[in-house]
Amino acid sequence: MDVMAAANIFPTHNELTETDQFIVFFGERLATRQTKFLWNLSEINHLLGGGDKLIFIDVSADGSYYLLQVDEDPTGSLGANLQSLRSLLFSQSELAFTLAGKAAQLIDWYGSHRFCGACGTETLNHPEQRAVICHSCKRHYFPRINPCAIMLIVDGDKILLARSARFKSNFFSCLAGFMEVGETAEETVAREVREEVGLEIENIRYLKSQSWPFPSQLMLGFIADYKSGDIVPEPGEIEEANWYHVDELPVVPSADISVAGELIQYYVRQVRGQS
Ligand SMILES: [Zn+2]
Repeated sequence: MDVMAAANIFPTHNELTETDQFIVFFGERLATRQTKFLWNLSEINHLLGGGDKLIFIDVSADGSYYLLQVDEDPTGSLGANLQSLRSLLFSQSELAFTLAGKAAQLIDWYGSHRFCGACGTETLNHPEQRAVICHSCKRHYFPRINPCAIMLIVDGDKILLARSARFKSNFFSCLAGFMEVGETAEETVAREVREEVGLEIENIRYLKSQSWPFPSQLMLGFIADYKSGDIVPEPGEIEEANWYHVDELPVVPSADISVAGELIQYYVRQVRGQS
């Protein structure tokens, strides 16, 4: 919370400075102009006032980043277009996606915690922390992330890839699933693999994670070795799952935008002796 303590979560207009930068959201989309997605104070000054909401996102060496939520379409006055968060994955820098992802998660979280889940009283923003408070029953609510495990199952020079039954696409990717209450991440990996393809695995090792703001997941990426069993796709979940030689892969996600793609690329490099 050190970063939060140094910044004002809900600044007033006269606390803003020229080194601050702003991401402007109108509804669920943000204002961009080609690759520009950060706006400075003089550019967005005319949008302040009325029903705008300003929320601190993050701080960098250059200044603070704020989310500016506006009620009226800002595209005309900014000379901007409106872009969805998902489209930023493919068209913008990693910084844009990270900051806009945080902003979108904050919009979603504040918007869905306007009332106390226990007693129904309207919540108030905590003045110094990323939290809302119920003054009636004294509960504090903090932003919630939903951890998921994503795992690449490997067997020597072959990897297991699957096509989802729920998202119609040509992509083959890693298996994945939400962690359940009381589970360790490794237990989630073993359970999901058993449920989705009927295989037993061993030697589960963590590789890396990724924030996935659709709406607020934390993807924990693992690699695990095949141990036993034959592939039995789970009806309704897995359309198709197969072993693929690392030199003969189907269409897989890009390593630029997803931890699934990174897991695949990492293992393919390992098999080929490049890392
Ligand atoms: Zn309450």
